[in-house]
Amino acid sequence: MDPTPEDDQPVPGLTTDDAPLLALHGVHKAYGRGARSTLVLHGIDLEVHAGASLGIVGESGAGKSTLLSLLMGLSAPTAGTVRFRGRELRRARAGRMRDFRRAVQLVFQDPRSSLDPRMTVGRIVREPLESLGIPGAHGERVDELLEAVGLEPGMVSRYPGEFSGGQRQRIAIARALAPEPEVLVADEPVSALDVSVRAQIVELLGRLKAELGMTLVMVSHDIAIVGQLCEETVILHDGRIVERGRSLDVLTAPQDAYTQRLLAAVPRLP
Ligand code: ADP
Repeated sequence: MDPTPEDDQPVPGLTTDDAPLLALHGVHKAYGRGARSTLVLHGIDLEVHAGASLGIVGESGAGKSTLLSLLMGLSAPTAGTVRFRGRELRRARAGRMRDFRRAVQLVFQDPRSSLDPRMTVGRIVREPLESLGIPGAHGERVDELLEAVGLEPGMVSRYPGEFSGGQRQRIAIARALAPEPEVLVADEPVSALDVSVRAQIVELLGRLKAELGMTLVMVSHDIAIVGQLCEETVILHDGRIVERGRSLDVLTAPQDAYTQRLLAAVPRLP
């Protein structure tokens, strides 16, 4: 048998239960072509195992959005591989891509722009169930989801514009949870919110992670928030991972000079 990972074939040795759900190996990403191309990610290695919580921290321009787009299968690496359950995403066929779309859900930074203002809350939360062809009683599921994120089921017929920023982010989280994802990817999930509601959304994400045993990947410029939610942290600087480890260790005993500078800029750690 050909051992190379053609199409949808599993990669030998990478499909056991211990295999990471998501894995980036030797990932480089360049924008532009030829002489004008700029390399923005330089050899990223990253693994996300089931049940883990990983924070990716970096300042603006570090490469977080680029990394997220690769992780979500929205763009392909210039070199290296991005795998879901041991299989390379860029080689995946439609059926496998559908499984991936269901299994990995994204919560965006700003719920003002990520929720369609013309759709009712009920339709917004139900939409992924319909578009992914998930069978079952969608109405009941929507009620359950709203309750899980601390909203009243009676809100289904209202519109996003009627809600506060924190409530809108709860709606966005309910939508992301609808297809029962294995991995929730949160892109700066609280940075567009008022400081007063940030802690509530962090608390909600922490509770959902614990109750649902969900795998969480969070991208943020805020090392303190990542430290509250994620057991592991990687620090991205100029497209390279400069430090990684248990969040507690990274926060309390940073090894890299850049991480030390980031931490020194945090006014007060919780
Ligand atoms: P972050 O999310 O951490 O702010 P990005 O991934 O957005 O970082 O950007 C990393 C680097 O890539 C930056 O220097 C940015 O200017 C550059 N970049 C991002 N997107 C593009 C693009 N579409 N074309 C060219 N350069 C880009």
